[in-house]
Amino acid sequence: MPSSFFKLNRHFVLGPIALAAAVFIASAGLAQAQTPVRPSGALPALGDTSELSASAERRLGDRIAASIYRDPDYLDDPVLGDYLQGIWQPLMTAARARGELGPELDERFAWDVMQIRDRSINAFALPGGYLGVHLGLIGAVATRDELASVLAHELSHVTQRHISRLMSKQSQQMPWLIAAMILGALAASKSPDAANAAIAGGQALAVQNQLNFSRDMEREADRVGFGVMADAGFEKQGFASMFDKLQQASRLNDNGAFPYLRSHPLTTERIAEIKGRLQLEGGASSAPKGASEEPGGARTLHAMMAARARVLGDPGVDGLRPLVADAQRVSLAGAANAAWTPRDAGALYGGALAASRLRDHALARSLAGKLKSAVPAKTALADPVEWLALEIELAAGNTAVPKLGNTRSRAALLLQARADLAAGRAQDVSGALQTWVTTHPKDAIAWQLLATAWGQQGQTLRAIRADAESRVAQLDYPAARDRFKAAQDLMRSGRDGGAAASNYIDASIVDTRAREIDQLLREQALQEKLDR
Ligand SMILES: [Zn+2]
Repeated sequence: MPSSFFKLNRHFVLGPIALAAAVFIASAGLAQAQTPVRPSGALPALGDTSELSASAERRLGDRIAASIYRDPDYLDDPVLGDYLQGIWQPLMTAARARGELGPELDERFAWDVMQIRDRSINAFALPGGYLGVHLGLIGAVATRDELASVLAHELSHVTQRHISRLMSKQSQQMPWLIAAMILGALAASKSPDAANAAIAGGQALAVQNQLNFSRDMEREADRVGFGVMADAGFEKQGFASMFDKLQQASRLNDNGAFPYLRSHPLTTERIAEIKGRLQLEGGASSAPKGASEEPGGARTLHAMMAARARVLGDPGVDGLRPLVADAQRVSLAGAANAAWTPRDAGALYGGALAASRLRDHALARSLAGKLKSAVPAKTALADPVEWLALEIELAAGNTAVPKLGNTRSRAALLLQARADLAAGRAQDVSGALQTWVTTHPKDAIAWQLLATAWGQQGQTLRAIRADAESRVAQLDYPAARDRFKAAQDLMRSGRDGGAAASNYIDASIVDTRAREIDQLLREQALQEKLDR
């Protein structure tokens, strides 16, 4: 199986919503000026401070998320996913404990952190508890604490209902138009690879000025985010050093690489307040600097995950070759010097993965072997190193690989499933995947692997159902309905090798789910009529 396994390839082309956004943005004209530019078809006057209801905000978020899931730049890399969750879940727990996140939002919102394959430095909060993180941000921050500071700030925009207040200001706009504007702004915030990136940036600014948080909201997200992050056990200094990074970029006017600065302008008040808060709490500068390691190998783990984000975010040959060269330098130097730094580990990890992507499997193996010798066994670092080695073997087409020692995490479970499927051992994985999706029904990749596993075992009906569920997980209800219909047709035709007739339970699940999705689609259509 190719290394593109970790993404869901959906052949996405810009749908009507994104297209509407493109047209909308184009009508906004060039707007490099810092003053807000009103697009033609101006938005309603501001001043209304009411909030969207949680369910209305979630509906709007679902609409936007459904488009993002189909975008080829949407990525669900389970390894980076587990890393992000390891930061995100403590933040959520702290927000609950502090009373920032109440039961209603907790229950109604999606709380999904989406990875976006883009080199620029950005993170964003969307309506309904969806968050986006550009791989460029993961690759650029120096520590997990810096990453936590950005996520805590974004989380606070959601929990403080900033988004709902912004959206209600736009409430005279139709929801589909708001969704289109947001998608358009996101598309325009991506890396400036295209020749007209400056234009896109300017146009995004015009739209963004309609969607931006106020200065007060930014300061509140800083204040609340800072508290959440500190309570979650992260190093508070990470908040300040992230600010320093942004400030430096802002001085260099590096807006192209830092779309984050456009959506969260760094004001002198914000900087002063954070510095003041750090001094007040006496949390200044206890963070390890430079090459030193902290307990648990957090810096090394971050260096490896940042390297992974750089490889996955820039799959071009020109971007991968320097990573391989860097790893080779470290590998050679390391032979004479036993003291490996987190940076060295990151370089070896990135170089091994990059070499694998470039199909130099021997080099990938050798660099991963070096990394293994550099990283202490039986620590939190051992698992990601073992996964890397397995990924390299699978990319090389070698399926005769030992099983992972520990498959408790999602990344390990899915990687092991992929290895078993490649080796034709589908019966080994369907049970574990079935158990997993029962508790994680929104895991589209797990459903897709399960579909492959059932397919390999000739269980066509179950395979189609699992495929349908993977579409549901990504909010593509029309595609899911088509798959459920296909499953029902198969049942009626009796072509499922007799499986359908003999398995009443499978058949009734398909019928029930088909009815539920039909009902969902009817409700959605009705809601859309009301929205217009
Ligand atoms: Zn902000």
